[in-house]
Amino acid sequence: MENAANKTELAGMTREELTGWIIAQGLPSFRGRQIFEWIHRGVDFDGMTNLPAAMREKLKETAVAQSVEIRLQRISALDGTVKFLFALRDGNCVEGVLMHYKYGVSLCISTQVGCRMGCRFCASTLEGLVRNLTAGEMLGEILAANRYLSQGKEQKPEKVSHVVLMGSGEPLDNYDEVVRFLHLLREEEGIRISLRNVSLSTCGIVPRMYDFARENLPVTLCVSLHAPNDEIRRKTMPVANRWSIREIMEACRNYIRETGRRVIFEYALSEGVNAGEKDAAELAELLRGMQCHVNLIPLNVVRERNLKGVSEETVREFMQTLEEKHISVTRRREMGDDIEGACGQLRRKTIRENNP
Ligand code: SF4
Repeated sequence: MENAANKTELAGMTREELTGWIIAQGLPSFRGRQIFEWIHRGVDFDGMTNLPAAMREKLKETAVAQSVEIRLQRISALDGTVKFLFALRDGNCVEGVLMHYKYGVSLCISTQVGCRMGCRFCASTLEGLVRNLTAGEMLGEILAANRYLSQGKEQKPEKVSHVVLMGSGEPLDNYDEVVRFLHLLREEEGIRISLRNVSLSTCGIVPRMYDFARENLPVTLCVSLHAPNDEIRRKTMPVANRWSIREIMEACRNYIRETGRRVIFEYALSEGVNAGEKDAAELAELLRGMQCHVNLIPLNVVRERNLKGVSEETVREFMQTLEEKHISVTRRREMGDDIEGACGQLRRKTIRENNP
């Protein structure tokens, strides 16, 4: 939990761990609870008004309360979606996307800087994996978004109510910190986001899917499937060379059995790759009888990769084929098209602009 500047990152600690750390600093244990509450409210040391000023200054020398700041924000003129570029303390950046729904406010967070999975349709992986995020940094993304939401609304601030682990990074490739983060969400006196409001998206790291089922957390598992068979999947997802769709399906059935929750399959449509009627029929056959849902995503074109999006008609026909075969399906709301809405695009754009 040491950050780049060798200060202790407090946001990744449970209330008990933080209290232990406070006692080790020679401070009374009740300060641990106070600081924990402040941190989960998104407040930095300067704002911890029930702590003596001298104590705050001393803490600042050795510890970090808020490890994520918003470096850049883009608000979509189309639908109000906000894309954040979050700055981490070591100078790295990750992205997050804030969306308002009827049921609440959802934040899509990143779990790694970059990603080593190499999916061809994704901009986050173009420079490979830089590093894992800590649990405290994942929590920090939410706290930063909450600070943004409360600006000018001190009386009745909105807060992030739903979290999607679908930004840059493969969450199950950063397993221990992701699980720690999920536990932090339900700590008493903490941020208190129900794990039923959390979705985790994986490209299909099969052994970790079994591990995750054993954690017995009521998180919705989303699987980036993007193909009805291994041959097509291998064209866009290198991970398909390691685990087959059959193995992924078995791991999904196990997850459904263990948690009682349906699995969501993400399917990004790309012309000439996976969007034909035959592909839809094969997908329906693959998922027949499974407690699942399909999320169709009309592809955002990645400038650096040679993949085409699809027409409205293709999306409609694909959906129709699935529906006729009784597969639950929706088309993902296209959000923030005008703000580099897809995963990795804003970070890349910023890197490009800073390194012309
Ligand atoms: S889609 Fe997800 S798993 Fe694949 S490269 Fe992008 S961030 Fe990584």
